[in-house]
Amino acid sequence: MKILVAVKRVIDYNVQIRVKADGSGVETENVKMSMNPPDENAVEEALRVKESGKANEVVIVSIGEEKSKETIRTALAMGADRGIFVKSNSNIEPICVAKALKKIVDTEKPDLVFMGKQAIDDDCNQTGQMLSALLGWSQGTFASKIELNENEISITREIDEGLEMLKLKLPSIITCDLRLNEPRYASLPNIMKAKKKPIQDLNIEDLEVDTAPRINFLKVEEPPKREKGIMVNSIEELVSKLKNEAKVI
Ligand code: AMP
Repeated sequence: MKILVAVKRVIDYNVQIRVKADGSGVETENVKMSMNPPDENAVEEALRVKESGKANEVVIVSIGEEKSKETIRTALAMGADRGIFVKSNSNIEPICVAKALKKIVDTEKPDLVFMGKQAIDDDCNQTGQMLSALLGWSQGTFASKIELNENEISITREIDEGLEMLKLKLPSIITCDLRLNEPRYASLPNIMKAKKKPIQDLNIEDLEVDTAPRINFLKVEEPPKREKGIMVNSIEELVSKLKNEAKVI
């Protein structure tokens, strides 16, 4: 069994996001970038499946600027076998990412694709679902527990009403939730070993995917600053402030 894992390089989740002065986007120059957090869970889960003897290869794919290769190396240092890097200088939208991933799936023929539930930069939560539709494969989104059997995968996913359990026929697309597992840290020897693991280089043009944007970004703005909160001494004072100062009741 082969598992393909899609990882995206995003601004590190600890970084305070700064909007560019001209409102054309957010600052990424000299900003710490990392693997999208749920993608780390996807890599970890694929490695656990491999370690349990149920899979024999974990392949990492990332689409983006040259530095996305570093993100692939991080996954290789965690234990993945090889990488596929698709170079794209512009920030491509989920439908284009899904179409590019479909081309990779067509050649790699994995049994499972693990992805993050959503990328924390654009918060789209679309790519996995779109890839599943393009391939006609089953999908399990927001997986917080996975159990793999012969030709079937059982997943638990969090929904508004509670937990939902699904049984999916392989091949399948699984998007991973942060609750799925605790991603491992790469050890120094494994970081060294990862330098020798193969990464195939492709260009987005090689995949013949139309990357023309469908979304027109007008402007990026900071949210309005929140005023400092105050402590009130009684419910009467709270009600009075809500009525007379905030004028919301
Ligand atoms: P999104 O639909 O943008 O929220 O992304 C959902 C998931 O799709 C991410 O967690 C990644 O697993 C995958 N993904 C999105 N963009 C890329 C990319 N440029 N390269 C590789 N995987 C991606």
